[in-house]
Amino acid sequence: AASAAARLDLDGNPIAPLTICMIGAGGFIGSHLCEKLMAETAHVVYAVDVYCDKIRHLVDPAPPHLHGRISFHRLNIKNDSRLEGLIKMADLTINLAAICTPADYNTRPLDTIYSNFIDALPVVKYCSENNKRLIHFSTCEVYGKTIGSFLPTDHPLRKEPEFYVLKEDESPCIFGPIVKQRWSYACAKQLIERLIFAEGAENGLEFTIVRPFNWIGPRMDFIPGVDGPSEGVPRVLACFSNNLLRREPLKLVDGGQSQRTFVYIKDAIEAVHLMIENPARANGQIFNVGNPNNEVTVRELAEMMTEVYANVSGEPPLDEPMIDVSSKQFYGEGYDDSDKRIPDMTIINKQLGWNPKTPLKDLLETTLTYQHKTYKEAIKRQMSQASAS
Ligand code: NAD
Ligand code: UDP
Repeated sequence: AASAAARLDLDGNPIAPLTICMIGAGGFIGSHLCEKLMAETAHVVYAVDVYCDKIRHLVDPAPPHLHGRISFHRLNIKNDSRLEGLIKMADLTINLAAICTPADYNTRPLDTIYSNFIDALPVVKYCSENNKRLIHFSTCEVYGKTIGSFLPTDHPLRKEPEFYVLKEDESPCIFGPIVKQRWSYACAKQLIERLIFAEGAENGLEFTIVRPFNWIGPRMDFIPGVDGPSEGVPRVLACFSNNLLRREPLKLVDGGQSQRTFVYIKDAIEAVHLMIENPARANGQIFNVGNPNNEVTVRELAEMMTEVYANVSGEPPLDEPMIDVSSKQFYGEGYDDSDKRIPDMTIINKQLGWNPKTPLKDLLETTLTYQHKTYKEAIKRQMSQASAS
């Protein structure tokens, strides 16, 4: 810890140990951020969440070398008066809590809007009133659809970066109609961003807004029927992992033509770490965090995951590794999609000198190795029980 305390920030100043109130610390991103802060810094973390399965190794109980460094606070921020006290005791609050799986946006739009806007309000208010710094997690989905998506498919302007690259301070937010309830999430996130920005402008709140672009890696979401509900629909990495583990075809929604850029969770966490320790460079900023070099269509992702999983598991791929499903069948009424997501990296690069490192192939190898090790036996047992009964 002594050497950690002597670490320097990007401007050469020693980094003082911070107390951090991390809300949503038990989720995918939170679990990696807790690990990083425990391993490489001297900061103290109040880990707030309704569950702690993904950080059990850090908090239940905390291993002796982390004594006094991390504590778990099981509370629902919707209705718990302890929240304000924790924010007051901390130097910095990081809010990760949200409903953030697309299958919920059109089927549970009220919960989605409450979670992403209403429930985040008190966090912003307590930070503003108590002059505490806030790092709030928004989403790349606030950009919605690209400008180019409204041009005919073969229009040459679609190839021009101005028609698709997403820039924090220039690109518009383009959502579909209200009946497309998919956009309930993006719209709630946009409004909380505007509110935080306004608190900064009118009341001097020190804030940083993070827009993650498809961060993926170990511990993302759940495998349906193993550590989550069997009818649950997680994000694409977990959906495809589940299909591969069960030797079922991967389902391509509406042809799998949408494009995404995937960034390795450990690269992305480096960016958050820099924001935490360089407030002068991060305050007042909105940051895209993604990997523009890792772009694939969903179909290409499915092909890559199939190939990588075959290598990792030693099981040959199915004869028909993929099938098409309509979004209505897969997600129900009101689904819509973002067509393409290339993050502009100018701002984060200039402010924090951050660049993503890991190519898609490498991060899929690491992640699918983890999925295979973590889940294969449980799935085998479950499938043999099901066929026996
Ligand atoms: P996650 O679902 O794994 O983590 C969210 C955590 O918040 C969960 O552990 C959940 O239990 C907790 N939580 C939710 N509501 C709560 C409440 N009322 N009280 C206490 N805890 C609550 O998701 P994640 O991928 O770790 O995402 C974290 C944040 O990043 C979210 O705000 C999400 O919108 C944003 N984000 C993530 C990605 C990504 O690529 N993973 C992309 C875009 C945006
Ligand atoms: N998708 C798919 N099959 C699945 C799960 C998702 O084709 O089993 C598609 C989904 O329609 C979207 C993309 O994969 O185009 C990424 O979905 P994800 O849930 O990860 O979240 P998003 O990037 O849309 O926020």
